[in-house]
Amino acid sequence: MEHLDAKARLKRLAESANISIDSNIPIRRYYRSGNEMLRMAKVYAAEGNIEAAYVLYLKYITLFLEKVKSHRDFSHVLPTEKKKTTETLKLTLSISEELKNKLNWIYEEEHRVWLVEEEERRQVEEHNRKLHEEEKRKRMLEDRLKAEMIEKDRQYAVWAQSQIDQGLEIDPSKQPAHIPDRQDYQPDKYKDVDEISLPTYGQAVFNDPSAPSNEPSAPSNEPSAPLVSSDLSAALSNFAPAAATLPDIPSAASIPAAIAFPTPAPRFDRSSKPTTTPPVVERPAIPDRTSKPTFGVQGTRSVIVPEKLISKFLAIAKSNSDRDVETLGMLGGKLAQNKFTVTHLLIPKQSGKSDRCDLEGHEELFDIYEKDDIILVGWIHTHPAFDVFLSSVDMHNQYEYQNMLHEFIAIVCSIKFNETGYLSLTDHGMKEIGECRQENFHPHSKEPPLFASAGHVTVDKQLDIVLRDLRI
Ligand SMILES: [Zn+2]
Ligand SMILES: [Zn+2]
Repeated sequence: MEHLDAKARLKRLAESANISIDSNIPIRRYYRSGNEMLRMAKVYAAEGNIEAAYVLYLKYITLFLEKVKSHRDFSHVLPTEKKKTTETLKLTLSISEELKNKLNWIYEEEHRVWLVEEEERRQVEEHNRKLHEEEKRKRMLEDRLKAEMIEKDRQYAVWAQSQIDQGLEIDPSKQPAHIPDRQDYQPDKYKDVDEISLPTYGQAVFNDPSAPSNEPSAPSNEPSAPLVSSDLSAALSNFAPAAATLPDIPSAASIPAAIAFPTPAPRFDRSSKPTTTPPVVERPAIPDRTSKPTFGVQGTRSVIVPEKLISKFLAIAKSNSDRDVETLGMLGGKLAQNKFTVTHLLIPKQSGKSDRCDLEGHEELFDIYEKDDIILVGWIHTHPAFDVFLSSVDMHNQYEYQNMLHEFIAIVCSIKFNETGYLSLTDHGMKEIGECRQENFHPHSKEPPLFASAGHVTVDKQLDIVLRDLRI
């Protein structure tokens, strides 16, 4: 999981504030868009979304401190507008610096917490790793003991058989000393083993003088095989010569039933194994704050459209629709909680035809929006005799706005088919239209699609809208 420190996070935010200039979009649009950036930044700041506010201020700064100068019409911008923007820039620079300091403090604090949590996580992992290692070691020890018990039984059987072969009675107390008593093996002794260096196998298990033993010691005159070895194979090899001296070892089946073997098989049952499994400490994954989407900065914000907008618009467009003339409306909205809600439908002065409708008086429209603190979030128009789609003229219109506001939507109402579509340009469409220098109706590529249904639109059945007809 990626984790970034304060410096890297601020750098990433700065990168997301990048903006490009398209000289084919009227320069006025950039100035209007700049004002919308500031209005949106204020909303985010008031809601405590400092990141989103900071990015918008940075965008504004990038736009007017440098980028807008590359627009081919920059020299035509009125000096008063330039002066006003310079003043706003100064203020914006100081606000953004303040926000940057705040963010830096927050990020550093989060990074500090992350470092502490990371260290805890590391320690927990280390602890768990040690526990697993210890478990593995214990299992290996048990396996070795088990092997030894098997060998012990085998030795006993050999010895017992030799006693029988020699016509001697089997007296377990007289068995060779090098055959250890199974009672000496006490698995519980290892319950609390927690050292990496376990006591040497053999010595601790079989020769621990402090270990209680119910069995009598082997007679001192018996040969004392050096079983006390830290190496099992070495210990086993000590048994080998004795076994080799015994010819014709009978099969188990031929051993008289009277011979009571101490145990027919090593009783080493996993299920009865003392539960020495140490608890593995579980720790919930610590969410990485840097992986959280920086809301308002990345991704597409939703646009809520009141259902009433459509009926109100169709009603006002009816007289045009009846005579096969398109009608255009502009959608104003509010930004709150990182969502846009369409609140206003403005019917601007326009010139409509059967296949297009051109807005007249952009400036008047924007003045109203700025005065009412509304953000331009989309447009709506009728297709009296066609279905729902975006014509090349529609797409070029849409491009100019969508370039300023990624979430900008185009609503198309087909009167003929009684259908409504909520559309926007695809990434591919933005690229193709952005590079297209043709005007009026002209062909574009069809695949991949240049426009599509806008997935970020939500239709609300309750909300109402304010309708203003500027044609009157
Ligand atoms: Zn159209
Ligand atoms: Zn084109």
